[in-house]
Amino acid sequence: MVVEDVLSRHIPKISAKDKSKKEICIFCASDEDITKEHVLPKWTFEKSTEMFFITDINGSEQTYNKTTIPACADCNNNVLASIESYIISIFKGVDLLKTFFSNKDLHNIIRWLEIIEYKFQILEIRRKFTKSKYADYIPYLADVPISIMRENINYSPSKAIAQIRIAQKRITVKSKKEKENSLVIFKTKNESFHFFHHLNDFIFLELPEFKIALFYFYSKTFVNTKDAHEAAMKIIKSVYEG
Ligand SMILES: [Zn+2]
Repeated sequence: MVVEDVLSRHIPKISAKDKSKKEICIFCASDEDITKEHVLPKWTFEKSTEMFFITDINGSEQTYNKTTIPACADCNNNVLASIESYIISIFKGVDLLKTFFSNKDLHNIIRWLEIIEYKFQILEIRRKFTKSKYADYIPYLADVPISIMRENINYSPSKAIAQIRIAQKRITVKSKKEKENSLVIFKTKNESFHFFHHLNDFIFLELPEFKIALFYFYSKTFVNTKDAHEAAMKIIKSVYEG
């Protein structure tokens, strides 16, 4: 139903755009009490509300604070808020110098990162098909601390819809055991928030408040965490060192 709504709302070729149509929740498709849900949860970047990423859609800057998608009050305040507070408690409760996350916690972190990916997928398609004017690609700047990397994404509507379905399905897969090695967790002393993300590929999130950085491969699996760690380091280096 969410997919059908995205189709009718944002892809003029498939059906005429209907602006009068009420927004629906991207999680449960309800059209009641629609709120703005942050794609990247507010607590992750709280002290960096002025921080932004550059989109290659129209080269505009977009702050994290304004990056939202529609979700109903029930999903936002109950379902999502409880996942968020659970994740915060996991991060608060672990001292990575002494101990590590349990498998159950790892699986929940993975599910949380998959929800973020789904929100980005929805954001991307809403943006892509509502703004048709393509500006020149703005090259990724290594000295911009935050960026969302979209350079290799050139979705056709049908491919974008297929990706949304994959992202939806991914969240609902109960066991995350197979993906355990795809999550790399770093201890960090860095004092600023960092983030980058590549649709359907990976996400990097550095949370100074918890002295934790996460790198997660959405589509890849690894035989061990060492291989995943190496692959993640390679990407992080290429982003920050150019
Ligand atoms: Zn909902």
